[in-house]
Amino acid sequence: MIPLYFHSPGLKFHTFLQRFTTYIFNPGLDRVLTFLLCCLILPALYGQSPFSFNGERVAAGTKKHFTIRVSDDQANQTVIPVTVFHGKRNGPVLGITAGVHGYEYAPILAGQKLIRRIDPTILTGTVILVQVANVGSFSGRSPYLNPLDGKNLNRSFPGHPDGSITERMANVISSNIIPRCNYFVDMHGGDAPEDLAPYAAYYQHDQKQEISEKGRKMAINLGFDHVIVFKTTSKDYMKVGSPSLYCSAEAFKQGIPAADIECGRLGMVEHIFVNKIVAGIENLLYHLEMIKGVPSPAEKIAFIDERSYITSSHDGIFYPLKSSGAYVLKGMKLGYITDFFNAPLEEIYAHESGIILYILGTPPVNKGETLATIGIIKEEE
Ligand SMILES: [Zn+2]
Repeated sequence: MIPLYFHSPGLKFHTFLQRFTTYIFNPGLDRVLTFLLCCLILPALYGQSPFSFNGERVAAGTKKHFTIRVSDDQANQTVIPVTVFHGKRNGPVLGITAGVHGYEYAPILAGQKLIRRIDPTILTGTVILVQVANVGSFSGRSPYLNPLDGKNLNRSFPGHPDGSITERMANVISSNIIPRCNYFVDMHGGDAPEDLAPYAAYYQHDQKQEISEKGRKMAINLGFDHVIVFKTTSKDYMKVGSPSLYCSAEAFKQGIPAADIECGRLGMVEHIFVNKIVAGIENLLYHLEMIKGVPSPAEKIAFIDERSYITSSHDGIFYPLKSSGAYVLKGMKLGYITDFFNAPLEEIYAHESGIILYILGTPPVNKGETLATIGIIKEEE
């Protein structure tokens, strides 16, 4: 529709402007239509307006860091550090959270690397990256719990604006971040005592087929060779009126395709896991067509939709005989527990065959705690 002479090679800008003005101001419906198309479609395709976040604007093609302050009635104060990458072109909004458990360092350090790896000048859409969701837990070196109120942020969603400090942090994420997103990933790794195998996971619900399928594709394209399916159709936390408890479950409940990453173990910083998370997020950005590139999912994926939990019947000292990632057969010995005088109390066996997703990796054990989780392989692709 636009005549060729507007973009002939070597055309000087003032000549272009002259020709364009003459073209537009000559009468004719086709020219008026062309002008309107230029005004409406080209900006939509090639540019986007600033992204409003936390009372500020992020210009297209830039990134901005935010420090969201949260406080409660007990004089507790904390912050939630967030980076927003706003691409030059219109596209989806991907939300990513690290540090919901502040002792899980691999995802937090992956987030730090992503600050430089995600280039907003070549990005389509927007990435909202929560660098450390639970600074209280991170700074206090506290596994699972926020020491400010003793609560587990990943059991506190959707939170409450007038609740304790952890409930207010959850509320900020549920109200100000998750609803802005079209896709959502919550990143975890094994907490201080958790020897964990790396995997991706997604939410599945019979009444939410479309977003379940989108979540499945996200999980696959994160590049892990084990993918857990959270079957949530009959779960209480998915029911209207029940608390969603988990960060990514809150996103899924809000109608957003959601995946989890679990990568890292025992509260350690191992660069193989940090880099695996960075590569996973880059793969996801390719898959969502937010960056040009081809995702590289694992060649073969084991899907797990059932997990077997083995719990301790005693307080004492646990000696694991297997590590995370090992494939075991039902009946294999996984470890044993002694009392404080080294007398045997209990031998621990696998109840099912499968992969050890988690095994307690440090000595203290309390009655009723999970000692190991075995993923039962459903199908392979
Ligand atoms: Zn965690």
